[in-house]
Amino acid sequence: MQVSQDQPIYSDAPLQLLLFVDGRPKSKPQVQRIRSYLKELQADYNFDLQIIDVGQQPYLAEHFKLVATPALIKIHPEPRQILAGSNITGELKTWWPRWQAAVDAYLELQSGLHENDENGRLREPKSSIRSVAVSAELIRLSDEIFRLKQEKEKLQEQIQFKDRVIAILAHDLRNPLTAASIAIDTLQSNYNPQKGEFERLTPKMTLHLFKHARNQAKTIDRMITDLLQVDRGNEREFPIQPQKVDIGKLCLEVLEELRDRYIAKSHKIKKDIPKDLPNVYADPERIRQVLINLLDNAIKYTPEGGDISVCGLHRTSQKVQFSIGDTGPGIPEENRDRIFENHYRLERDQGKEGYGIGLCLCQRIIQAHYGQIWVDTAPDGGAWFHFTLPVYPT
Ligand code: ADP
Repeated sequence: MQVSQDQPIYSDAPLQLLLFVDGRPKSKPQVQRIRSYLKELQADYNFDLQIIDVGQQPYLAEHFKLVATPALIKIHPEPRQILAGSNITGELKTWWPRWQAAVDAYLELQSGLHENDENGRLREPKSSIRSVAVSAELIRLSDEIFRLKQEKEKLQEQIQFKDRVIAILAHDLRNPLTAASIAIDTLQSNYNPQKGEFERLTPKMTLHLFKHARNQAKTIDRMITDLLQVDRGNEREFPIQPQKVDIGKLCLEVLEELRDRYIAKSHKIKKDIPKDLPNVYADPERIRQVLINLLDNAIKYTPEGGDISVCGLHRTSQKVQFSIGDTGPGIPEENRDRIFENHYRLERDQGKEGYGIGLCLCQRIIQAHYGQIWVDTAPDGGAWFHFTLPVYPT
């Protein structure tokens, strides 16, 4: 335990006091008054006083369940007593004779019990300043262990999540890589170095294969660039806490929250969430935000009496695709990428309330999960927003 400089070294004094102080300028005069009164008493009485700054040792204040400072605590002889409030000196004057009487009774009891150890010293009181310090330290340490355990679990989740994502990426990269390799192999196996030409391949076909290989390489490049960007930007902006999430259930909860809104517009909700849709590996709060934004838009932009659909799909062994569709005006093809930009709104919708940030937020959240989000058009012209998330490993 930290003791302020002018405090006595630990002794076995039968009366032991702790004075809790804080750094507020407002409480300084009161603390000074208490300290000088205790100093006066120290001339005539034998007691231990330790001064504890709650700012430095908050766990000790917690240990004694203090609600205000300054506070003077008699920790020995038992029972413990706390003097707090604006008139500690006054209270101390009242209690001092009784505390002295308790000390006398304690000393008498001790000598009566012959509880001297081999050196003839009185045994350390059970609730001494030292034992209080030890138990407060234990509380602090167990709090610390609890915090570290939680942190460890969180880190393990993060590592597991990254493993999952790497597996998905490896899988996703393989498609364009295989396609590029096939095109290059075909070109190579048909190339005659002596003649310097591609045999059995028409010039049109040769050109097509070159183009195809180059496009696949570009796709790979884009995937890697996106990935690096996500890692750089989103992790700091969106520290996600991935865990096992039943996305179908989460979506139904969000729909329930928005019930009043779609009922008011007489929308029909169509649900197609397979019972065996796997759990996803995601941050439930963040995904809730995505679902709220997409469903909110669907309700906002769909005229009265329209349909809103939610649909889950186990797309590959690694990914779940979730889609939200509506029968509103849809998104024109030329605007499909731009609507995910910050503050972008279709000119057509400038009159409607909104700030054009919802979809941008959705994209950042989904990208932080290493998923994809995009929009296309339903056969009847409405918008269909789709996003993918990693499957939770079984
Ligand atoms: P906000 O809805 O607040 O304007 P968003 O970022 O959510 O911002 O959407 C951006 C724009 O995309 C909207 O202004 C709107 O023009 C268009 N949009 C979004 N969702 C839909 C939808 N379901 N149907 C038609 N247009 C939509």
